[in-house]
Amino acid sequence: MQVRPAGRDNGGGRGSARAPGVYRTESPVTSTERFLAAAEAHSAHNYHPLPVVVATAEGAWVTDVAGRRYLDLLAGYSALNFGHGNRRLLDAARAQLERVTLTSRAFHHDRFGDFCTQLAELCGMELVLPMNTGAEAVETAVKTARKWGYQVKGVPDGRARIIVADGNFHGRTTTLVSFSTDPEARAGFGPYTPGFDVVPYGDAAALEAALDEDTVAVLLEPIQGEAGVRVPPPGYLARVRELTRSRNVLFIADEIQSGLGRTGRTFACEHEGVVPDVYVLGKALGGGVVPVSAVVSSREVLGVLAPGEHGSTFGGNPLACAVALEVVAMLRTGEFQQRAAELGARMHRELARLAAGGAVAAVRGRGLWAGVDIDPSHGTGRELSERLLARGVLVKDTHGSTLRLAPPLVIDEADLDWGLEQLRDVLGA
Ligand SMILES: *Cc1c(COP(=O)(O)O)cnc(C)c1O
Repeated sequence: MQVRPAGRDNGGGRGSARAPGVYRTESPVTSTERFLAAAEAHSAHNYHPLPVVVATAEGAWVTDVAGRRYLDLLAGYSALNFGHGNRRLLDAARAQLERVTLTSRAFHHDRFGDFCTQLAELCGMELVLPMNTGAEAVETAVKTARKWGYQVKGVPDGRARIIVADGNFHGRTTTLVSFSTDPEARAGFGPYTPGFDVVPYGDAAALEAALDEDTVAVLLEPIQGEAGVRVPPPGYLARVRELTRSRNVLFIADEIQSGLGRTGRTFACEHEGVVPDVYVLGKALGGGVVPVSAVVSSREVLGVLAPGEHGSTFGGNPLACAVALEVVAMLRTGEFQQRAAELGARMHRELARLAAGGAVAAVRGRGLWAGVDIDPSHGTGRELSERLLARGVLVKDTHGSTLRLAPPLVIDEADLDWGLEQLRDVLGA
């Protein structure tokens, strides 16, 4: 693979990279090529990463093996809401590393109760069930909703149904891809788990028509991230809340990507004054340090699980709890939500200007989160991402012609402006 030198050099003066030169044990281009070749030869090709090899990172900036610096406008799909190498989170992790890292749930540990209490309080809920990845947490919510359906709602055994939306992304397990409408995610992985009804996203009437006496839950992303930051029409989430409440159906909000500050609120549901029955959280909950996910709900719902019915060896481990506790403490002050709202307004003003000038076809989003549809005359999303990479900006395309912007919430205003300037330039606007 041909690798052209890309990115900003270290004289740029933005951010503060940590001694990037220390990685130059061989020529920059050689080391980049060596890493890319090794990855190409010996890793499954289930991703198509941009050709940048990150060695270190701090805040909104990463440095590659050649010492080139890049502004990260993806932030691990929101897993890095608090930026790379966040001091508070690293300190919490480091302190916990020296104490105890894993007990399994066979025993108690001294961070677990605090973590569950603090997270439940942040969510305004009663119980927490910690897992590791987002997909596991969604699986947990699906299992819990079915059990609740049989045990509390009285649905006949084996008949529980869950309504989901088209364009959904809830993870990559066999059950979750069973109700994906993305052929890439689903094709070739059957047989599929039954029990799911797919309705158009944003269409409350279709959802109402799909509800029947066996429906135990509606599972939705309040804003669909992977689909290209699709925001539902105003009133949709509130209507779903009304319908689910009146029909005794659980409203499960997958806030793995939309939650924990990204949209300018702690939860995206808040923009419509909606409180679901179940929050599914992940990504930013682990502070970009360790995978931490959780299902958060009421005693009535999570109380249906008895010992032995569900679990995870690493779920709620001491290191995960220590980091996530710090994440929750940071979110409690509201400062990150505020920052996402302010910088988000700034970003959307600039993107609206690009849309008005015709450089981009459409912009969607909320807070510091945007899906930007590129007019095909400017190239594919992938080509645009590569051109931005060459200018020292990291973004990732989705669905061919959409760029997803999700800068770390800690990004400097000037850095954000600079990143958007690069976008404007590659679009020739
Ligand atoms: C990322 C994501 C998931 C899956 O999380 P993993 O940690 O990758 O398993 C589920 N739902 C949404 C909305 C996501 O964005």
